[in-house]
Amino acid sequence: MVKVDSDMTDHTRYETVIGLEVHLQLNTRTKTFCGCSIKFGAEPNTQVCPVCLGLPGSLPVFNREVLNSGIKVALSLGCDIQKTMKFDRKNYYYPDLPKNYQISQYDQPLSGRGKIGIKLEDGTRKEIGITRVHIEEDAGKLLHSETDSYSLVDLNRTGTPLLEIVSEPDMRSPYEAYEYLVKLKQVLKYLDVSDCNMEEGSLRCDANISIRKRGAREFGKKVEIKNMNSFKAVREGLLFEEERQREELEEGRELTQETRLWDEDKRVTVSMRSKEASHDYRYFPEPDLVPFEISADLVDGIRRAMPEGPEEKKIRFAAEYGMGEKDIEVLTAEKDIADLFEGAAGLSGDRTGACNWVKGEVMMHLKERETDVKGLKLSPGNLAQVIKLAGEGKISNLVAKEVLRESIDTGRDPYSIVKDKGLEQVSNADALGEIVSKVIRENERSVSDFRKGKDAALGFLVGQVMKLSGGKANPKVAGELLRKALT
Ligand SMILES: [Zn+2]
Repeated sequence: MVKVDSDMTDHTRYETVIGLEVHLQLNTRTKTFCGCSIKFGAEPNTQVCPVCLGLPGSLPVFNREVLNSGIKVALSLGCDIQKTMKFDRKNYYYPDLPKNYQISQYDQPLSGRGKIGIKLEDGTRKEIGITRVHIEEDAGKLLHSETDSYSLVDLNRTGTPLLEIVSEPDMRSPYEAYEYLVKLKQVLKYLDVSDCNMEEGSLRCDANISIRKRGAREFGKKVEIKNMNSFKAVREGLLFEEERQREELEEGRELTQETRLWDEDKRVTVSMRSKEASHDYRYFPEPDLVPFEISADLVDGIRRAMPEGPEEKKIRFAAEYGMGEKDIEVLTAEKDIADLFEGAAGLSGDRTGACNWVKGEVMMHLKERETDVKGLKLSPGNLAQVIKLAGEGKISNLVAKEVLRESIDTGRDPYSIVKDKGLEQVSNADALGEIVSKVIRENERSVSDFRKGKDAALGFLVGQVMKLSGGKANPKVAGELLRKALT
């Protein structure tokens, strides 16, 4: 008898439905409805004013930059921009919310109906619908002490502009949810409207997940998962929840609509509260702000000034540079990487070299240092110098890698590094002759191997010349000299 894996049975019997809500903190200079700075890391309660503290008599004034960034994001996700939008109050009491309401958008948001394309495991593409993108303001932060019996409130973040990006419940697996987030972040980073930094909270994600019998029309009971601080945590939280819900149903228990928290240490979700329905927030129109009309001229102007997105860049790289798909994936993964490549390729006049250096050494440094391009002190000009020095044979590849490392560490230009340290490649036969003779004297075994016809032995001898010359010998010239001396 064939033993059927229970997990497999579950997958064929049940279908998972996932929708994601992403909160994106915008990197405008000031808050949504006042002139306070939103700079991260300031002393607590130093970036506040009567408006964001919710003092009586203060009135909000809408920040134009927030609207512009919101339109950019909505357009890049293919959303329709509404002709009229309005703000609403979302009422709830919490110590980090001095007004006891958050200004948000309820029934007339900035935009709706967009989509984002993701790649599935089998290589096919799938479109995930975007329900809406709306503007709201952030709450403050509570700092809980582990030793004292009180908590402290920091209101610097209060009023910071957020965009809420709500997806349709179109995802059918935690994998799809993960891919959606990766793609969304890529698109958002290209726009430069947010740091998209999950650790600092500028990108946050809540997930809704339910399961239903395969073929059923009705959705199952929806569970919202919060407190996931990385894309990996989103995927793990969803995988756990998918399994938990299946087990509950299999054992004949009812699921409840609730909010659960992801516990990163225990790797489980824990029930927090039954989920509020939207009427619990008593939404009503914000009386201190008029409805806003968004002119077609404004939208067109922003559309024309939009930077190239990742998909457009991929198409252009393929057409303009005739590159393979793999190279294009790496070079367009982030806008800064693409800019570094294009800058260095233009300045060095060596596109293949630029592609190889970015794909190889630069990516290695990014990984090794766990940073992004901005975290390296490497300008396109300095990378171009390395490419030229190595390409023209002025320095060996080995030295070029060291020069690149130093340039990344210090920001110094490679020409002066090479000049100051005397790293120019030695191609001169006279200068290399002495080293070649020494290597022949000291490596009798390899010499006799080579004379017996083992060509590979020559590679070892060239390596010895490179080593003795401190990486400065031109390997081609060294090889020729060795061959000449030994035959
Ligand atoms: Zn303020």
